[in-house]
Parts: sequence; structure tokens; C-alpha cells
Amino acid sequence: MPTPRLRSTDRQFFCTLCKTQLKTDFRWPKKEDMSAKATKQAVFNEWDEHLRIAHPRQWEREQRKRARRRAAAEPYAFPNDNGIEGQ
Ligand SMILES: [Zn+2]
Repeated sequence: MPTPRLRSTDRQFFCTLCKTQLKTDFRWPKKEDMSAKATKQAVFNEWDEHLRIAHPRQWEREQRKRARRRAAAEPYAFPNDNGIEGQ
């Protein structure tokens, strides 16, 4: 079973499996790092929602993976850890 992945073109994000395009505009702000972070979060949230609705099985698998990762990182976890990994 193919895994849906998040891909990006110049401006848009889309799902590699069903080709659904995310609504979030991909425009990295040039000045403030904070809004870049917010943009990333927005894209991530939308992708999460897409997985949940369009690919529930993949979403469940993803949730399990995240839970494991969180459990593994527990002793060092930050209170505001949202499960997003840096690049
Ligand atoms: Zn999809």
C-alpha cells in the first residue's frame, strides 16, 4: 500500500497519493522566523487533517509512530513539544 506523502511545488503543498492540494499557501516569510514557524504549523495541521479524513489508516499509523516517539523522548520532553521535528 502506497504511503501518502506531503510534497511541495513552488507555492503549494499536495498529497502524493490522491493529489489533493492543501489550501495553505506556501510562501515563506522573508523576515520573521516566527511566521515561518507559524506557516509550517499551519501546513502541518492541514496535512494532519487531510490524512485523518482521506487516509485514516495512514493517519492511525502516523499517530502510533508519534506516540512512540513521544514516549521515547519523554524524559527530555519540553512542555511545548508539539511533535514537529526540525529540519
Ligand atoms: Zn491524500
